[in-house]
Amino acid sequence: MICGAVDRSFPSTLIRYQPGEKSEKSVDKQAGGRFTEIYYKKELSYMREIQASEITEAIERLCIEANQVLPEDVKQAIGKCRACEDGEIACQILDNIIENYKIAEEEQVPICQDTGMACVFLEIGQDVHIAGGGLTEAVNEGVRRGYEKGYLRKSVVKDPVRRGNTGDNTPAMLYTEIVPGEQIRITVGPKGFGSENMSAIRMFKPSAGLQGIKDFILETVEAAGPNPCPPMVVGVGIGGTFDKAALLAKKALMRPIDSRNSDPFYGELEEEMLEKINELGIGPQGFGGRTTAIGLNIETMPTHIAGMPCAINISCHVTRHKTEVI
Ligand code: SF4
Repeated sequence: MICGAVDRSFPSTLIRYQPGEKSEKSVDKQAGGRFTEIYYKKELSYMREIQASEITEAIERLCIEANQVLPEDVKQAIGKCRACEDGEIACQILDNIIENYKIAEEEQVPICQDTGMACVFLEIGQDVHIAGGGLTEAVNEGVRRGYEKGYLRKSVVKDPVRRGNTGDNTPAMLYTEIVPGEQIRITVGPKGFGSENMSAIRMFKPSAGLQGIKDFILETVEAAGPNPCPPMVVGVGIGGTFDKAALLAKKALMRPIDSRNSDPFYGELEEEMLEKINELGIGPQGFGGRTTAIGLNIETMPTHIAGMPCAINISCHVTRHKTEVI
């Protein structure tokens, strides 16, 4: 073996040699008496190559599937709430919601006419090298193709004030995170704005305490009323900075609603707040009933000694997201 060569016994592994250091392999061979020359120590520098086109194809698929098939946990939660409702209108609305998502799945059409802004979360392994194009363009191309191929409504405007549809639902709202590993975990969560518009953030002083957060959650949901197309899913982000709290709240919506925060303190708070929200009586589509929310997830992170940011991202009964690992 020569310096800098690719060792085929380690597939997909680029091996570099440092001059002056013996490799284990060469020592073994020398011990067998077959080689006398000095070899170099090998050092592994592992980068898995992923083509930008693979990312585009995955995003295209995920945009379509997320818009057509509701996640299993959301379907289960709607079913459970239907079993608990006794009001005539509430039952009728939940039946319509169930029938609607079944039709969407069977006929491969969008669950809702608002096919949302494409929120794309990428967890990129630090041992991945993206080749053959830029990452942001790869993601936007996937959204462009997915929204076109899936007959999904294009809902993005070029400018927040002067408006004007971009015509292809781009740009995606792209969030990247570098994680250990050699894979990319892609989650697409199309976000409708009937519910997005009812979201809120507040920069609490620490003295507001837990009660301040509880009151804020209830106030926000009560003010939202029928606008976010209840039964809703509530994502709560606590901690970090102003911007991080909002991102935590958005990420909370991507977690299955049948899961609980791994910290029992927040797990119990999730259960308590979900119960309190359902006691508000807003009900399915705001017509009254026991089911105002089908899930409430809380995500947290450390924050500054002088603050306690809290963001609430509200989602609707069409809380969609789909994940793929490449
Ligand atoms: S809030 Fe949700 S259910 Fe309501 S229109 Fe938007 S996407 Fe559809």
